Amino acid sequence: MNSQRRYNRFSDHLRSKFGCRVYKISLDAGMSCPNRDGTISKDGCLFCDPEGGSGRQTARSQIPLTQQIQEGKLGLKRRYGAEKFIAYFQSYSNTYGPLEKLQALYDEAVSDPDIVGLSIATRPDCVAEGVLDLIQGYQDKYDTWIELGIQTLREESLTFIERGHGADIIRTAAKQIKQRDIQTCAHLIVGLPGENLEDMLLTIQGVCDLGIDAVKFHMLYVTERSRLSEKYRAGDLPLLTKEQYVITVVRLLENLAPSILIQRLVSEAHPKILVAPAWLKHKSEVIRDIEQRLKELNTYQGRLFHSY
Ligand code: SF4
Repeated sequence: MNSQRRYNRFSDHLRSKFGCRVYKISLDAGMSCPNRDGTISKDGCLFCDPEGGSGRQTARSQIPLTQQIQEGKLGLKRRYGAEKFIAYFQSYSNTYGPLEKLQALYDEAVSDPDIVGLSIATRPDCVAEGVLDLIQGYQDKYDTWIELGIQTLREESLTFIERGHGADIIRTAAKQIKQRDIQTCAHLIVGLPGENLEDMLLTIQGVCDLGIDAVKFHMLYVTERSRLSEKYRAGDLPLLTKEQYVITVVRLLENLAPSILIQRLVSEAHPKILVAPAWLKHKSEVIRDIEQRLKELNTYQGRLFHSY
């Protein structure tokens, strides 16, 4: 871990692994999801944006994948001086569909010579053996990840967000991915109603026990078209303040295994569709506040971690 950072930042890891600036290109492959197409439900998770899935909230599925990659490369080169890229299948469930279709999509994404990695976001109930075999096949040549939407390991919270599966499915999926040595990045929601710090720490403990390789923290936020917005407008949804979020994430980091990479400290919501909390529009301030609090408390990722 970079001692200046106090947490195990993913971008530092990529820099030392590849010796250059590596950035993810977010892709929308026009996928679906069993919690949207009627297999489990047609309503989706409570927080899900119906047009962008759990991804960037700006559907781009009409744009060919190769074009999305070219545009992504150009933008990231200009903005950050990026040199190499990870193709990130972000929107909806990107392991859900016929294997031939999935293979064609993944192959198209990695065909660009500047792509050094493949990162595939999905739900824990969409990682059948066949698709894991397929993804495992990319490991030799590419930095390969599955981004698993864990969100929480608390059963009541999974029911509240209408995820459509329980914590047992999450644990099974994480173990199956681990058995194949595919790297796993867990997406976790901070600030779910009804969850206290103790509950969130139990999820953190569970993530460590499962041998997860990286984590993305997301603040629970409300978008215009999500069903969560109905609860919010009815005054039925307490959301964390920025200060509460910062304090909570620092505590979660302290309890997280030091080896786990931090891919994201806070989620990004498209300002056009964000209903609340307004402070999420200033992501860089939130990151700055988390880093500042770590410094003020002279604490760091893993300080309170215990392996059993
Ligand atoms: S799993 Fe993802 S895409 Fe599917 S409904 Fe839930 S948030 Fe939306």
